[in-house]
Amino acid sequence: MKTAILGAGVSGLALARTLLEEGVPLTDLTIFEAAAEVGGLMGSKELAGFTYDVAGGHILYGRDQETLDWMVTCAGGEQAFASRTRQSRIRFGDSWVRYPFENGLGDLPPEIGRECLEAYIKAHEARTTGAAASTKGGPPPADFASWIRWRFGDGIAAHFMDPYNEKIWKRELSELTSDWVADRVPDAPLEDVIKASRGEITEGYTHQSVFRYPLRGGFNAISHGIASNLGPALRLSTPVRELRRRGEGWTVNGEEFDVLISTLPLTDLPGLLPELPGEVAEAMADLSYNSLVSILVALDHDQVPDYSWVYLPHAEQGPANRITYLSNYSPHNAPQGRASLLCEVNFRGGPAGPGEPDGGLEEDLLTGLAAAGLLERPRVLFTDRSVVRHAYVIFDHAYRARRAAALNWCESVSLHALGRFGRFEYDNSDACVKKARDLARTLAQQG
Ligand SMILES: Cc1cc2nc3c(=O)[nH]c(=O)nc-3n(C[C@H](O)[C@H](O)[C@H](O)COP(=O)(O)OP(=O)(O)OC[C@H]3O[C@@H](n4cnc5c(N)ncnc54)[C@H](O)[C@@H]3O)c2cc1C
Repeated sequence: MKTAILGAGVSGLALARTLLEEGVPLTDLTIFEAAAEVGGLMGSKELAGFTYDVAGGHILYGRDQETLDWMVTCAGGEQAFASRTRQSRIRFGDSWVRYPFENGLGDLPPEIGRECLEAYIKAHEARTTGAAASTKGGPPPADFASWIRWRFGDGIAAHFMDPYNEKIWKRELSELTSDWVADRVPDAPLEDVIKASRGEITEGYTHQSVFRYPLRGGFNAISHGIASNLGPALRLSTPVRELRRRGEGWTVNGEEFDVLISTLPLTDLPGLLPELPGEVAEAMADLSYNSLVSILVALDHDQVPDYSWVYLPHAEQGPANRITYLSNYSPHNAPQGRASLLCEVNFRGGPAGPGEPDGGLEEDLLTGLAAAGLLERPRVLFTDRSVVRHAYVIFDHAYRARRAAALNWCESVSLHALGRFGRFEYDNSDACVKKARDLARTLAQQG
């Protein structure tokens, strides 16, 4: 069965490699990739001895051990990775507040910590003891802005969740749904939040507390590892320009295939599928997403805090929502005696968005970081930016219906949709790999 795989990000690569493991001959596989290198959103860039990840700071973690083990093995085994304990903080004025915020209330100025705790307890009571009959035991509020208050109370909403999420999502939070947060934001036990407010250390988000990162080559070392035995199947610098249904199969740029798997963003398919029904094309094209500028800041010293990353919720801290201390992940991410910060700035994606920010962005970024006490301007060697068009799926109120219309059509014509933007899901690389391997096994059985 001649199989076309569109996109050599981690989803397309993991699918291809698993097909091989399942006995499909390499000669049956063709992977079309527009870029000159594999990796997509997991891409990394090397410059003047610094290595950084083009779609912001990436770490390897997750709950599915088999998937993580497979990724590590493909990329050279444990000895090719550094293992790190997560040390994440929120910069709040001059304070470093433990993350998640509700586990760091004791790090806040006392009056703000008290305000946040009182409102947190009130919100907790309202949703568990019936003080608010409308929400007790019922479903969480459907819009994200209300959900934040329902879950964290007005204090944490005002001091962290609202300003931080506005930087990430670049729109009114009431325009978003709360569907996607349930799994991503675990409920901290009330006792832990009370203890934390007294300054006792409690741990939130334990599934992230230890992570791995490739020693050399940045996060993309994982994609390169997965791709290592796929060479003859890979067609780099080969954009997909046209897809047509041909009998039970497909043509890709005029070439015939029996099976088609696409990891390309659903929003791009209307431009590639001349035979797509109008209402499906509209649903696909209107799916919303945010784009990202990642900016490496190279420093002329290595005296940085021992943190993994720091969230910057406030406008006066500049446009970045998060900075990663990337040189703490691996000693090979920066030359000896130097350090690197990787800064993430989001902007609204799609044709209605403002487009890539101009060169003033770096100036605003450095001014904000200096004001937040995170760097001294004269110690900056240089900055370098990378832009990714599709970075965050936007879970607005039209998302479910649009996505269903898109994926139902794909299924009806045996176009297997896969990947973070191939299916418009908020998946990390481990989830992408798991889904790719599951699909590969199903296809191999059918084939
Ligand atoms: C800010 C940020 C932080 C993240 N942090 C983490 C993290 O800490 N840990 C983690 O595990 N994951 C993280 N992720 C998620 C991770 O990057 C993605 O889940 C994963 O890389 C998605 O892989 P993919 O193959 O599905 O998609 P992509 O990587 O987008 O692959 C799609 C591929 O298709 C190619 N393509 C597009 N159009 C065409 C065309 N017309 N023709 C041919 N090829 C085309 C692209 O070049 C690309 O290579 C993060 C993502 C972001 C944005």
